[in-house]
Amino acid sequence: MQTIGLLGGMSWESTQSYYAAINQGIKQQLGGLHSAKLVLYSVDFAEIEALQQRGDWQAAADILGHAALSLQNAGADFLVIATNTMHKVADEIQAQLRIPLLHIADATAAMLLQQGVTRVGLLGTAFTMEQRFYRERLENQGIEVLIPHADERNDVHRVIYAELCLGDIRNSSRARYLEIIKNLSERGAQGVILGCTEIGLLVNQNDTKTPLYDTAIIHADAAVNKALAEVRD
Ligand code: GLU
Repeated sequence: MQTIGLLGGMSWESTQSYYAAINQGIKQQLGGLHSAKLVLYSVDFAEIEALQQRGDWQAAADILGHAALSLQNAGADFLVIATNTMHKVADEIQAQLRIPLLHIADATAAMLLQQGVTRVGLLGTAFTMEQRFYRERLENQGIEVLIPHADERNDVHRVIYAELCLGDIRNSSRARYLEIIKNLSERGAQGVILGCTEIGLLVNQNDTKTPLYDTAIIHADAAVNKALAEVRD
């Protein structure tokens, strides 16, 4: 089994989901008392969020690059960055490493294509929904990406930072998200990507008939499969 390098804390609420899902995946595949070989580096999200607000992505890349190097030095065989948004600086982080980075959008695209989904809605932070770095990774694989309307994007973004990253889960926000998911579905999305790793704390597949693709779980499962690839070969 390979050792997973988990770069988390963005926020720690969703890093918990990754840690649980990775260990559950290893247990499911190997059984018994098996658990993941994993090194965790958890950053102070307040520092990262302040840099996002200022648009100082280079400083954020430096902090995360340093953290990723620590994971590599601690014996990680590959890197998992436990947030969609900070994949904006994935290339800068990868450039500092000799171990590979398992990209969250690639893992998600692989899952969508496996299920025959080529037109999908995307929920996430404003950075993830509105900028090119995430969507183009999906579009390059032939997946059409629909994003919510401007007022809907504002609500999705606000709930992530003001509630979900603080562990504040509200019924009113769940209802708003479900309304936005329904609108994306009515606009032709075959499914909706939960493209922020905290959204799965708010909505899940039991809440809607529209297929949901939870990036935290998809990414964690991809990490499990990569960690075990040699075992199965
Ligand atoms: N965890 C969130 C994401 O997946 C948002 C937090 C962040 O800005 O990194 O994008």
